[in-house]
Amino acid sequence: MADSERRTISVRDPRTGAVDFALTVATAEDVAQKAATLRANQVAWGAKSLAERIGVMQRFLGEVARRKDAIAEADAADTGGCHTSYLQGFITMGNIGGWIEDAQAALDKASYEGPSRAVPSVTVRTQFVPYPLVSVIGPWNAPMMLVLLDAIPALFAGCAVLIKASEVTPRWVEALFEAVAQVPELAGVFDYVHGDGSTGQAMIDASDLVCFTGSVPTGRKIAVQCAQRLIPCYLELGGKDPVIVTADADLERASTAVLRGAVHANGMVCFSVERIYVHESIHDAFVALLVEKAGKVRLNCDNPRAGHLHPFTFAPQAQIVAKQIEEAVAKGATVLTGGKVEEIGGGLYMRPTVITGVNHDMALMKDETFGPILPVMPFSTVEEAIALANDTAFGLTANVIAGSEAEALAIGQQINAGSVFMQDTFLTFAKNRTVGSNSFGVSGVGGGSRTGPEAILRYVRRKALLTQHGEPADIQNDHHLGQH
Ligand code: NAD
Repeated sequence: MADSERRTISVRDPRTGAVDFALTVATAEDVAQKAATLRANQVAWGAKSLAERIGVMQRFLGEVARRKDAIAEADAADTGGCHTSYLQGFITMGNIGGWIEDAQAALDKASYEGPSRAVPSVTVRTQFVPYPLVSVIGPWNAPMMLVLLDAIPALFAGCAVLIKASEVTPRWVEALFEAVAQVPELAGVFDYVHGDGSTGQAMIDASDLVCFTGSVPTGRKIAVQCAQRLIPCYLELGGKDPVIVTADADLERASTAVLRGAVHANGMVCFSVERIYVHESIHDAFVALLVEKAGKVRLNCDNPRAGHLHPFTFAPQAQIVAKQIEEAVAKGATVLTGGKVEEIGGGLYMRPTVITGVNHDMALMKDETFGPILPVMPFSTVEEAIALANDTAFGLTANVIAGSEAEALAIGQQINAGSVFMQDTFLTFAKNRTVGSNSFGVSGVGGGSRTGPEAILRYVRRKALLTQHGEPADIQNDHHLGQH
């Protein structure tokens, strides 16, 4: 196809509103070509020992570390969130470094070589066979970190990996692949395409396993397409994460933790706090503190490195948030702070938005919002609070702030969520790679955990090799089998 006939997508700078970047959409043919090259190169990559692959990934980590500022700046240009992008780069490097340390032990733990229990004359061995080509399709929030969360263990496992960033946030890709280009063994098995949903669909057709992070409606389409091809898919989807604040909670602690959990990265995080249940006896005092602290939060419009809240990364998201607030107000809710989309220097911002008088008839308390909202609802008994927290289609994370750690734990154990953070919020980063978790509801689909030490096992088929050392069974007397 001639370059002039190729479809392009214009990309908006979330800070200025200027359209200053364009990507060329990869066609199904482009994807198939890249997939063929990656598959051919994967044969040698998959045949390397894990120790050899670790050596390559160590060099890659060095190249990423050398370029970490440029990569973080590209991610920041995509999202508008400068300090959050530096954090993403740091987490990405920790992810590579972590697998360098943990990959061998994770595979060893899942491996077996020894006698069969059922037939002791048979030796059983495990062989790990990497899925040749893994496709990773990413969202526009935390765009680099979320794609690499899946791509990195797949590379350690011996797969070739083709990634596609969201068409809303594609700038980080070239910056990262400057590091990839310095490591030729890796460059042969790690590549990218740009594009929208059509490119994503072509990737699914070309690959053996799909990892997707994004919205529930897109996840549903991807699940159907993967089911038609009978290939595995791992879906990390949305959230509507609650926090319960009990009567005996320390109000200073609770208001500080809840505010950060709700508005970090402008609330555009899958595990942002989006529903706040507070015991009726402390409701008014808690709300007053929240309002006071919310008033001190600064936008980063003047200096991207100085403020706390960045603009909406995806402009239409501002309207989705505004509409949910409008509907809640029409149904009786009261906005105490923020609540309005402000256009500053071309960027779309919203200040922390404390809202009271909310209930579960409102989209604001049911649908994912992805904005800096703090809707507070009183409860009278802990049982009621747990029922409200569990009254959701999602189940990604949840939070409990109680008078004691024991009380928080007792409540946390009854909430249906993949991770529950107690006496604080937003503890996901404390969990990464040391422990796994599976989401509840529509927040996650696919076996195995994405972040635990065993996440690498998602990317290999486990093959059983069985060798008979004794005499083979004779068809004349195999009716004895199973009678012992
Ligand atoms: P989205 O579903 O709109 O798009 C995500 C990606 O899918 C994009 O790259 C897009 O091009 C691609 N795509 C669209 N249609 C496709 C199709 N039919 N086939 C294949 N690919 C297709 O999501 P988004 O708005 O970019 O991301 C925000 C969502 O992601 C939120 O719901 C958020 O909660 C969720 N999220 C989840 C996690 C998690 O770990 N659970 C983390 C971050 C974000």
